[in-house]
Amino acid sequence: MQSNIAPIPNLNFTAFDFETANYYPASACALGVVVVRAGKVTEQRHWLLRPPVENFNPEFIRLHGITPEKVCNQPTFHDIWPEISPYLLHSPVVAHNASFDLNVLTNTCRHFGLTAGALRYLCSLQLSRRAWPSLPSHGLAAMANHLRLSLNHHDAASDALVCAQLTIAACQELGYHTDIDLPLKQSNHNPAANQTKSFALRDDPQEIRKSRAQHVRVQRLDKSTRTGLTNNFQVTENSCTCPDYQERLKPCKHIYRLQMELSF
Ligand SMILES: [Zn+2]
Repeated sequence: MQSNIAPIPNLNFTAFDFETANYYPASACALGVVVVRAGKVTEQRHWLLRPPVENFNPEFIRLHGITPEKVCNQPTFHDIWPEISPYLLHSPVVAHNASFDLNVLTNTCRHFGLTAGALRYLCSLQLSRRAWPSLPSHGLAAMANHLRLSLNHHDAASDALVCAQLTIAACQELGYHTDIDLPLKQSNHNPAANQTKSFALRDDPQEIRKSRAQHVRVQRLDKSTRTGLTNNFQVTENSCTCPDYQERLKPCKHIYRLQMELSF
């Protein structure tokens, strides 16, 4: 850690970073957690996770180097929830591009029937834009370079550490002296609403199709024409040759899968 990043006595938060096996947000395969107390990194944790579905996308393997072989004997997110949850639930959480990591957290919890509750969170990407508005990029690699922090990008432990370090540096830049100064947001997953929501999700036919999209086999994907071949059906963003779509003329699991692949 840079010696010129001096501690801030009342700054407490937990930085975290997920890696996923594929586009499906419940496919978490690694989690890095870094605890900051009194403006200093006091604890660093890293877990490899066996995702619910072990279909790893080769593009993702190229990014983070995590393969099915590396996680086949690892615990699931559900197995280590008692260990992980105190880190995430008992102090403000920070992630770089927090919407991605919160989406992974929410969907992984939902998959395993766990309740994360309402989290107080901060996006360090937005905080970086606020602290250093003139920089051309505020991506994690650009920020590490700017602050001369060493980064092994897409290693969850390293990403979480740099997220923590740049958050401390941004707080200094912005003159935040305590976590009360942090522009925290509240995730809208309070336990009661979450239960109602997950109950509704089970019964909503479109939500069921969305969740089944993860099991769809993508045989061909053409990003320029935004079409593909999945489970032997020709699919576009708003039509599919499968019986489900032909009968209902509402998005089927193949359309959801195509949208998921194209949105990345
Ligand atoms: Zn279809």
